Amino acid sequence: MRLQIKNITKKYPNGVLALNRFSLNIGSGMFGLLGPNGAGKSTLLRTIATLQDPDEGTITFDDTDVLACKDEIKKSLGYLPQDFGVYPKISAKELLNHFAVLKGIHNRNERKDMVDFLLKQVNLYEKRKKSVHTFSGGMKQRFGIALALLGDPKLIIVDEPTAGLDPAERNRFNNLLSEISEQKVVILSTHIVDDVKDLCNDMAIINQGELLVNGRPTDLIKELNGRIWEKRISKQELPAYHDNYQVINAHLNEGKPLIHILQDEHPESGFEQVAPNLEDVYFSAIR
Ligand code: ADP
Repeated sequence: MRLQIKNITKKYPNGVLALNRFSLNIGSGMFGLLGPNGAGKSTLLRTIATLQDPDEGTITFDDTDVLACKDEIKKSLGYLPQDFGVYPKISAKELLNHFAVLKGIHNRNERKDMVDFLLKQVNLYEKRKKSVHTFSGGMKQRFGIALALLGDPKLIIVDEPTAGLDPAERNRFNNLLSEISEQKVVILSTHIVDDVKDLCNDMAIINQGELLVNGRPTDLIKELNGRIWEKRISKQELPAYHDNYQVINAHLNEGKPLIHILQDEHPESGFEQVAPNLEDVYFSAIR
């Protein structure tokens, strides 16, 4: 299975160039799409999901021309958007059944089996009689996955699924994603670097509508070997370090900035060489 995105350009009517001749190949498994807010991730995902048209470019999924054969691609596509908006006040089971009808699953028995199977898979079978609007954030996202899995799609798109989830819910959700990704192309869009590190065998970093980095997380991390230096400094010193070094990451640790800089040779004393991580890859790419 292969999704091929070629030279996609999208300019919104307000003049924002959200995607600029963007190309990317995605194979089966979990693919992480990382980028800051406004990078163009949702624009790309909505385009792949055929919810909006690009100005230029082509997308193919195996042999199907995605942009020309929208009805066909919709059958093999599951899309979990950032936000579903308002849920009607009917039970989870009824709602899933309703969407199964819309998805074209007309055989009653087949539909019932699928709805029960999916509710069990996302661990919501016990809650099937409750209305989705009473669910916690994590339960809603798991319900969203059940929706996205209707009709056994081969291409699944999830847009920022763990934003707003507590750590336990996030863990449960990520485990579920990892389970469903076999024999499918799953694209996970996020700005949470750890989610990509934990789940994805391939990834891309995008910013300002352009592809910055693409590869396996472990390979991308390896490329920074021997070039990341760490130092704990005071808050007052931070501006001077920004002036003098390529500071790629400065996060607080026990209330004090812990900075990472990128350079080949050993900086002044006080810096210690550390093993690079995916955050270093991310911040050095979007810097
Ligand atoms: P991300 O999902 O990475 O946060 P988006 O694809 O949502 O990025 O947005 C990319 C850029 O396009 C941003 O500058 C955003 O403000 C702009 N944008 C997104 N949707 C629209 C729209 N419907 N109309 C105008 N500008 C938009």
